[in-house]
Amino acid sequence: MVITGSTKILGVIGSPISHSLSPIIHNAAIDHLSLDYRYLAFPVAPDQLTTALAGFAAIGLVGCSVTIPHKQAIMPLLAEITPLAQAVGAVNTVWNTPTGWHGTNTDVAGFVSPLAAMQRDWSDTTVVILGNGGAARAVVVGCHQLGCGEIHVFGRDAAKLTQFQSSWEKIQLPVNGSDTPKQVTIKTHLWAELSALINQANLLLVNSTPIGMYPQVDSSPINSVMIQGIGSNSLAYDLIYTPRPTKFLQLAKDAGMMTIDGTEMLVQQGAAAFELWLKQPAPIQIMRQALIRSLNAN
Ligand code: NAP
Repeated sequence: MVITGSTKILGVIGSPISHSLSPIIHNAAIDHLSLDYRYLAFPVAPDQLTTALAGFAAIGLVGCSVTIPHKQAIMPLLAEITPLAQAVGAVNTVWNTPTGWHGTNTDVAGFVSPLAAMQRDWSDTTVVILGNGGAARAVVVGCHQLGCGEIHVFGRDAAKLTQFQSSWEKIQLPVNGSDTPKQVTIKTHLWAELSALINQANLLLVNSTPIGMYPQVDSSPINSVMIQGIGSNSLAYDLIYTPRPTKFLQLAKDAGMMTIDGTEMLVQQGAAAFELWLKQPAPIQIMRQALIRSLNAN
């Protein structure tokens, strides 16, 4: 693809950022559609965020992905934030408008996508979310949107869990595409309570901790005894995408559970951002292939 005087810029900001797979995913889509765009990775230190955003506006950058450590810090700098991103408490996608930067969170759409594709009724499903960090918030919102029966969140720090629990008290969001907002209801627990809740039918077990991520490939947030005999109607979902599978997903598969890894979430959150910026359907299969090729090469 030739870069010309009119080539438009998209990108991702973070610190560090050189490991990001987003340029590979987005430039594959841009090339496939022969668009006059490039998607670049910009290392932006925390104390440079305001300056970077002003500079990006000055040069007409169309939009960018936002990753660690800027997902929360960018929020006060934006002119408008979607209710969904406000509920998650983090912005991972921004776009430039005549009235300033607008932001949303596409991690929720990314997380939900492979579950929605299963076209099942989630109202009898009990969700167990391992971890109570930033990604867990997107998982809570996604499970609420799907209409899951109960949502339980597990963490290791009682004070953080209390704060996590109370942060949802005033949050109402639509369920299953309906326009009527409903209270987001969750229960939080310390890890010691996990065994009692985990071994039941119709479970959606989500790992939103980094436990098991490369290079700690022999670690898992659960052991095989916890999910023994759990049954094939239950699902294990790991947000981690390296290695594939993680030990967590391998244990779940061995116990007869369905499994989903973090690659689809990564692709789909990127596709949702692409569609916001470019206002056209994202070539999702091309983006998925580019990601898998890159993961397999490393
Ligand atoms: P985060 O904000 O740092 O939260 C991590 C959570 O895991 C925290 O609750 C933390 O507990 C807990 N945790 C970490 N190490 C632990 C351990 N050894 N034992 C028990 N709990 C532990 O991170 P995040 O942004 O939520 O990301 C979580 C994972 O999701 C990462 O692996 C990330 O790569 C992945 N992710 C994937 C996608 C995707 O598109 N596939 C998108 C977002 C995130 P404390 O708070 O007590 O430390």
